[in-house]
Amino acid sequence: MAEQETLEVRRVRHEIKRRKLRVRDVARLAPHMVRVTLEGEELADFVSASFDDHVKVFFPAPEGAEPAKRDYTPRRFDTARRELAIDFVLHGEGPATEWAAAAKAGDALEVGGPRGSFVIPAGFDTHVLIGDASALPAIARRLEELAGRARVIALVAADPMALPQAEGLDVRWVEGSLLDAVRALPLPEGETYWWAAGESAEMRALHQHLVQERGVDKKRVRASSYWRRGDSAVHETFEE
Ligand SMILES: Cc1cc2nc3c(=O)[nH]c(=O)nc-3n(C[C@H](O)[C@H](O)[C@H](O)COP(=O)(O)OP(=O)(O)OC[C@H]3O[C@@H](n4cnc5c(N)ncnc54)[C@H](O)[C@@H]3O)c2cc1C
Repeated sequence: MAEQETLEVRRVRHEIKRRKLRVRDVARLAPHMVRVTLEGEELADFVSASFDDHVKVFFPAPEGAEPAKRDYTPRRFDTARRELAIDFVLHGEGPATEWAAAAKAGDALEVGGPRGSFVIPAGFDTHVLIGDASALPAIARRLEELAGRARVIALVAADPMALPQAEGLDVRWVEGSLLDAVRALPLPEGETYWWAAGESAEMRALHQHLVQERGVDKKRVRASSYWRRGDSAVHETFEE
């Protein structure tokens, strides 16, 4: 094992907090990905224990209307600087993507959580990370965490962009289906954890393939729906 530590995953609860923040700056990371860095005094006690955490983002609505809520990954945070960065996929239509496409310094945004974290130990021999563009912020955060500590194979179906590089980090950009890419991947030797996130039907198929066709222990697979084609605000996890 890469590190002497338990391989048990852990769930951690956090005090739920809603924070009123402002955009500090907006940067284009790839043609369809923008990083929005938020700031605010209320970030002084922000916690996020896992790369697979999410915050609930409340998008401003017209007077009297309910704000739209969507889940996003805390890509990077710095409590000393009171900053939180979120990377938004610009996929076209929806309150979140439309807000992000127009975001500019000074805009207000409310963010709730994270409510809890699912902590996957670093000590596996191999971590396989699988996802589309919506999972890329979580994958990038995990690559940073695992650099120099573990072997990682990342299969990413998205426009290529700059990601952390280090020995042991093997990022493969997938054109076509993630399921086909996983089918073609030999099972790594040793203790392996499989993490996947992306479109709902694809995640369900991936989970089934790994557990039923490849015989991977279902305790070692976490596949989450981050969105569903033709639907809004979907979050589901396929696990044991
Ligand atoms: C735990 C978690 C973490 C997430 N982290 C991130 C993150 O860091 N960055 C990020 O960009 N997204 C992330 N997502 C996905 C994001 O919450 C959804 O994509 C959300 O639906 C976007 O809201 P919207 O208002 O833009 O579109 P919606 O109003 O929800 O949907 C409008 C239409 O767009 C389609 N659609 C939604 N998302 C996508 C997509 N990604 N690609 C193509 N079509 C889409 C829907 O099927 C629907 O037809 C995360 C989701 C979860 C559950």
